[in-house]
Amino acid sequence: MEIKYCWRCKMEVPMLDKEEFTIASELYSKGFKIAKSDRQEKFKELLDNYNRLTGFEETEPNAIMHHSIEQIGPDCEHCGKPYRTPKAKLCAACWNKK
Ligand SMILES: [Zn+2]
Ligand SMILES: [Zn+2]
Repeated sequence: MEIKYCWRCKMEVPMLDKEEFTIASELYSKGFKIAKSDRQEKFKELLDNYNRLTGFEETEPNAIMHHSIEQIGPDCEHCGKPYRTPKAKLCAACWNKK
């Protein structure tokens, strides 16, 4: 887990590394099979896992599913924000070229 800027949330959030994200994805798909109408109850295991790992109080399961270090690409060497995708050639924050 690492704190990084999230382009979708527009704030710094705990991003999961590859292993942590694999577990989160499994708990996410498990959540769909739980027959409860309340989203927080369906995805309780996912939310608990993330919040225990990060000390955060995330309540939105979908937010966790894009908080993956692998998905956001490397950090910009100029401004320190992630490039947004692993393939990006330009930093979306400061236009620094990779
Ligand atoms: Zn986000
Ligand atoms: Zn930058």
